[in-house]
Amino acid sequence: MKRRKDSPGVQLSGNPSAEPARPERPISPYGRPEEQIIEMALRPQRLEEFIGQDRVKENLRILIEAARARGESLDHLLFYGPPGLGKTTLAIVIANEMGVPIRITSGPAIERAGDLAAILTNLRAGEVLFIDEIHRLPRAVEEILYPAMEDFALDIVIGKGPAARSIRLSLPRFTVIGATTRLALLTAPLRARFGAIFRLDFYDLEAMETIVRRAARVLGVEIEEEGVREIARRARGTPRVAVRLLRRVRDYAQVRADGVITATVAAEALQLMDVDSLGLDELDRRLMRTLAEKFGGGPVGLETLAAALSEEPDTIMDVVEPYLLQLGFLDRTPRGRVLTRRAYEHLGLPYPGEAAQPPLPLESI
Ligand code: ADP
Repeated sequence: MKRRKDSPGVQLSGNPSAEPARPERPISPYGRPEEQIIEMALRPQRLEEFIGQDRVKENLRILIEAARARGESLDHLLFYGPPGLGKTTLAIVIANEMGVPIRITSGPAIERAGDLAAILTNLRAGEVLFIDEIHRLPRAVEEILYPAMEDFALDIVIGKGPAARSIRLSLPRFTVIGATTRLALLTAPLRARFGAIFRLDFYDLEAMETIVRRAARVLGVEIEEEGVREIARRARGTPRVAVRLLRRVRDYAQVRADGVITATVAAEALQLMDVDSLGLDELDRRLMRTLAEKFGGGPVGLETLAAALSEEPDTIMDVVEPYLLQLGFLDRTPRGRVLTRRAYEHLGLPYPGEAAQPPLPLESI
């Protein structure tokens, strides 16, 4: 495959201030505005530089090569999975591999149907339109997107009342890449318009170590192999968290040590940030303790649990739970969340035993 060195450009569309405030946790997988520049610099640009997610990469390689060989635009693609795993990065990589520009926006940033119409009519042939948090597109906007994705057409209504008539503008062929943390919240008609849907998983330790090593190289940070491991282990399988922890540990190393990140320096810095050996922080532990102490280990419903923690149910569902589920500390049952034996052990609390937790209803087994 012929490779283009130059990137055809990244453009941001929509109102970025529509984003809700996020909690300031060092292990939060959400990006922060001040991190955007550094994230841009650290983003892999080509598929071969993108670490991990091998199954997804292999599928993408085939889709891209086939579309290029036919000289066509790429099918619409949807990525889902927890934040910070590389959905935006992959969209940029795909645009680079296709040699086309990319326009980046998000569901909440497109407030009115007219905003989307303006974006669509400015697209060039083959261009990638990346829509982050696509499940949060307003309904009226989503309806504009259906014919745009399916027929590359924009239906515009002119006038009002009996004199109103609809005209159809044709659009160049383009590619929508959608990203969502909640596949279940996507409407069926929208989901049906994607040619392929990919789930991104948390990264394994080896991939995380490679990501930390690469980020350290790009940032010019001196780090020992044990330091790499210490950060990788506590970054919750999430590249964005790894990059942030690395930067915070670098500051600590500069001020408290001689600038080199060793295992001890990393462990001390992360302890100071209240990130434990598994990457759990105060909110994770508070959730587990609340489940254990207030609800006898569960099952308890999401809303009740969120209220007891004074947190948004969305924060619990998108940010806290996926990693606890991955660690096997939490189970999601039809009757609610249940704390597992491993979680009790991690917290150093006595496990109440199987008997204390009511059996699952038959249909869930
Ligand atoms: P998402 O869109 O899923 O929230 P991003 O694509 O914005 O996540 O990724 C967050 C950051 O993590 C990026 O800036 C990039 O530096 C880093 N990153 C993500 N995936 C990878 C990867 N596979 N290899 C290296 N760095 C990655």
